[in-house]
Amino acid sequence: MPKISKHELQLRQAIIDKCRWMNASGLNQGTSGNISVRHDDLMLITPSGIPYETLTPEMIAALQIARDDGAHRGPLKPSSEWRIHLDILRARPEIGAVVHTHSTYATALAMARRGIPACHYMIAAFGGGDVRCADYARFGTKELSNAALAALKDRNGCLLANHGMITIGPTLDKTMWLAVELETLARQYTLSLQIGGPVLLTDEQIEEARAGFASYGLKA
Ligand SMILES: [Zn+2]
Repeated sequence: MPKISKHELQLRQAIIDKCRWMNASGLNQGTSGNISVRHDDLMLITPSGIPYETLTPEMIAALQIARDDGAHRGPLKPSSEWRIHLDILRARPEIGAVVHTHSTYATALAMARRGIPACHYMIAAFGGGDVRCADYARFGTKELSNAALAALKDRNGCLLANHGMITIGPTLDKTMWLAVELETLARQYTLSLQIGGPVLLTDEQIEEARAGFASYGLKA
């Protein structure tokens, strides 16, 4: 394996730190979540089925973003969900990181194949007035990548039917922040459905919220 640069080593450690954090915070359980980060023409991604506590930077798998065959560098196979990460990084050149989890409330809504409407102004952090639920396709397939990319049009998060959720962003920090916000919105929306359902914000109100985010550096 070629020598890993200091910067790449930091990115690999950041992936591990975020994996451990998302389990400690309750956002994710076991090894069902996975994280990827763009590093030049490479995608760095969590390996398949290894408990996060035992991960070391060398175990993070590296894939060429331009390649489609899953060929990887590293001692362990990449996450079984590498394809959706790779296809998103390829289709969205502005994106630097992808977080995927089976967080409880987002997944509960995804099981019901329900997206999240404009029930709270924080929805604007995802780029518009809703977070869509992508059509169902089996994990690891090109069909799932295509369904997710359609649901992610003009958005930086979506639900995956009968599966979980995904968030995308310029940096890993921002992307993990979005994952926490998406799970929070999913929980709040689910609770509001139990008391008659939310009153939805208008497109104009969502646009106002988006403009407000931009003014304090949270450009959606
Ligand atoms: Zn998954």
